[in-house]
Amino acid sequence: MPELPEVEIAARSLAPQVEGRVVVAVERLDWERMVETPDAASFRLLIVGRQIQCAHRRAKWVLLDLDDAWTLAIHLRMSGNLTVQRPEVEARHHVHLILQLSDGGRIFFDDERKFGRVRLLDRSGLAHLDACHGPEPLDARFTPEVLAGILAGRQTKIKSLLLDQHRIAGLGNIYVNESLWHARLHPSLPAGRVAGQSVVDLHAAMRQVLEQAIAHEGSSLRNYRNGYGRRGQNQEHFLVYDRAGQPCLRCGCPIERLVIAQRSSFYCPACQIWG
Ligand SMILES: [Zn+2]
Repeated sequence: MPELPEVEIAARSLAPQVEGRVVVAVERLDWERMVETPDAASFRLLIVGRQIQCAHRRAKWVLLDLDDAWTLAIHLRMSGNLTVQRPEVEARHHVHLILQLSDGGRIFFDDERKFGRVRLLDRSGLAHLDACHGPEPLDARFTPEVLAGILAGRQTKIKSLLLDQHRIAGLGNIYVNESLWHARLHPSLPAGRVAGQSVVDLHAAMRQVLEQAIAHEGSSLRNYRNGYGRRGQNQEHFLVYDRAGQPCLRCGCPIERLVIAQRSSFYCPACQIWG
């Protein structure tokens, strides 16, 4: 599932291809449940004629800011991809939304598993989406002190808390696994027991893991592609994710797998400790 780095790369790669263009038509919308708000008929009416002013990211949402303070918010969920295609390109049947742009380009939202979601939001809708998410881990305002405040007193497993988008935005299973390995923290550790230097280490680990993944244009485990249709390379650089049974790259002990919050946790039983 695309996480912060993949969504960041999606937005960055869309930006030069869509900014300044006007949406001239909804060429295809054949899976109307994809549009969460407004209803599909209103969506078609409201989006046509709007200029895309800026492509950016909040949490795991790609945001296309439009004129008149509207925002098209797109969540890739399990298998979604956003690309910009030329007029002659034929759309596969997994492409459930196509927006035609004024320069002839077409935004394809390809989503094989149909979990992806689209919202066309006004100013208050966008404020609500923003308020539903915790701070951005790469934001300068996200300091070790902010992280300490989020963790303090919580009995939730650290793994589950880091996945909770209401607490901290953008992390998913891959980058939580990697961050906890770097910070030498056991995924089942109660969040409130991560304190002092461990918070500083976890904060640094999260940033390092996310920045490295962005530098590698995200991880392409299944079908993730950026706005130009290119795969990311970060899957070549995992240190613990999906390495069950293989030696820990720090201490040599076999990596173990544990299920927390229905997701696989990969960790080293020797060097990821209980605080
Ligand atoms: Zn180890």
